[in-house]
Amino acid sequence: MGEPMLSLEEARERILAAVKPAAPKSLPLQEALGLRAAEILYAQVDLPPFDNSSMDGYAVRAADLAEARAERPVTLRVTEKIPAGGEAGASLEPGACARIFTGARLPPGADAVVMQEDVKTDAAQPGVAAFCETPRPWENIRFRGEDVKRMARLTHIGTTLAAPRLGLLAAQGFQDVRVYPRPVLGMIATGDELREGGGSLMPGQIYESNRVALGALAERAGAKPKIFPLAPDELPATKTALERAFAECDAVVTTGGVSVGEMDFVKAAFAELGGQIDFWRIAIKPGKPFAFGQWNGKLLFGLPGNPVSAFVTFYLLVCPAVKIMLGAKSAELPRVTRVLAEPLANEGERRHFMRVRVDAKEVRLAGPQASHRLASLANATGLVDVPPKTTLPAGTEVEVLYW
Ligand code: AMP
Ligand code: MG
Repeated sequence: MGEPMLSLEEARERILAAVKPAAPKSLPLQEALGLRAAEILYAQVDLPPFDNSSMDGYAVRAADLAEARAERPVTLRVTEKIPAGGEAGASLEPGACARIFTGARLPPGADAVVMQEDVKTDAAQPGVAAFCETPRPWENIRFRGEDVKRMARLTHIGTTLAAPRLGLLAAQGFQDVRVYPRPVLGMIATGDELREGGGSLMPGQIYESNRVALGALAERAGAKPKIFPLAPDELPATKTALERAFAECDAVVTTGGVSVGEMDFVKAAFAELGGQIDFWRIAIKPGKPFAFGQWNGKLLFGLPGNPVSAFVTFYLLVCPAVKIMLGAKSAELPRVTRVLAEPLANEGERRHFMRVRVDAKEVRLAGPQASHRLASLANATGLVDVPPKTTLPAGTEVEVLYW
């Protein structure tokens, strides 16, 4: 055939050498979940911004209550009421206390808050509160800056913005954050035999499934899939489909039409658009010919049409690229180690990424492994890389790449 036969690692390296993180973009915090920060953010304020009460209760001078005992309560005058969001109030005079609520500013002079459950009041004697115990100094007080000091670092470049960190940024008054935005991946399926679901099939036709399956993998990886209409096996139509997808997306994924058959137009159409194409065979099963190209800084991933081949090559080669676009330093896919419950046999000459089902303890085959077998793919949760001409016996510890 003439196309170079690459190892999976070589193919991955070539792809990753061409991939760059997406141009950073400022997004509202609500839209940044799971993305990576593309800026270093520092705390703009101390958190808490002022000393405040952690309880509903009474702000006191602890020294006033040094003699307070259950048998001999000490009474203090209640001189003010400080709600959350209100003024800190006047300085507490000896013998006085302040009614205070959670999050309210501590009045000057106060050095403890006694929780309201421990304070006796009497409706007949408003303005007086009785205390039965000496508070510990600074009890129930949250200090300015004890949580976050102004100028503390809140994000690094590449910090993943999970829910709690988004909360921290919001608590610092940020509304937006610069992130590596989700790349938009255009999904094109080529093939005259393909039909959209919903309609009925004519003889020889099949329902198209790759755009949905790969779109879901893309979404899982953090990209935004964009589904384009079915493309027939014809040069001008394939060219138009690619042109449109490149205009609207950061990268384009095609399936089918990338072999060396006379009905395979993806490479030719891409070349006619002026794209630089690299065409390889990859020494793995499933996954035959694979086209990779660049056009005006955008990427083309031309995957094989067989649904299992498309899924596996997307997972092994496109998902890592998406990670890099999202600002990750490492393109490694998640792995777990598990014990084989049954043997995995690869009689072929290429590494076989076998579809397996992983549970808490074990790994077993997900079903028949041919590259058109969607039912076993649907049953699978990951892949095991079985070397050529090798049988891994039951009981072997294997690494599983899982989605
Ligand atoms: P191709 O790579 O175009 O030669 O297609 C290989 C096999 O995959 C053929 O049996 C196609 O009918 C099938 N196929 C191609 N594209 C899709 C698709 N998007 N959905 C389902 N099957 C497909
Ligand atoms: Mg085809």
